[in-house]
Amino acid sequence: MQNLQYSVRYSKKAKRISLRIDPVKGLEIVGPPGFDTSKIPYILQEKKDWLQRHLEGITRANQRTESAKKIPHYLHLQATSEQVEIRIQDQLSKKYHLFDPHYHILYLYPEHKEQSHIAALMRQWLKKRAKTVLPGWLEGIAYRHGLDYKKVSIGFQKTRWASCSNKKTISLNSKLLFLPAFLVEHVFVHELCHTRHPNHSQDFWALLRHLQPEYRIFEHKLKNYWQQVVPPFLEMY
Ligand SMILES: [Zn+2]
Repeated sequence: MQNLQYSVRYSKKAKRISLRIDPVKGLEIVGPPGFDTSKIPYILQEKKDWLQRHLEGITRANQRTESAKKIPHYLHLQATSEQVEIRIQDQLSKKYHLFDPHYHILYLYPEHKEQSHIAALMRQWLKKRAKTVLPGWLEGIAYRHGLDYKKVSIGFQKTRWASCSNKKTISLNSKLLFLPAFLVEHVFVHELCHTRHPNHSQDFWALLRHLQPEYRIFEHKLKNYWQQVVPPFLEMY
């Protein structure tokens, strides 16, 4: 346990000090604002068994943390079969990003060359791209299955590919662009089924099975794909 890497996070919600493993940020020690960090070595000692049990997961997360710090050279948007090259430029004007669709190059013009600003610009551009690609595509799939929704919104959710509200607003995650097209369509069909059945009831699964007989394999794939396809850099900063 000697060379264990960890980060400290202060949280207003935390009542006491606890340990958690974030898939991108690695081992985190979470405690109330201003907690006494000199206690950490004792806490790690106390939680020795837990840490031993989770060592493999911690090591894997730490490796991911290292790669997450590097700015990706490419964004692989499987949904649109685009391999977008990233070029970081000096800021010349008020422009923050420029996409050259012919050569698939995304020029970013950060104010400061800080990772967090570069990641924010990438997310901004992805959202813009998602707004031009996803709504029309969803509309087509809805039409094909005779299902109806009220509105569509595009976000950058942390842990969900998409969701559907009781008012039949479908929220899509810009990160869907990283998925292969057949899985994007599966997410669409899943959410469209929610316009009929809001919960994961038996009726919901029956409708999904009817529209998408292979739904089990797709649902399973979606769980694992998150960490495989979304560049961790985008979630780190
Ligand atoms: Zn669902």
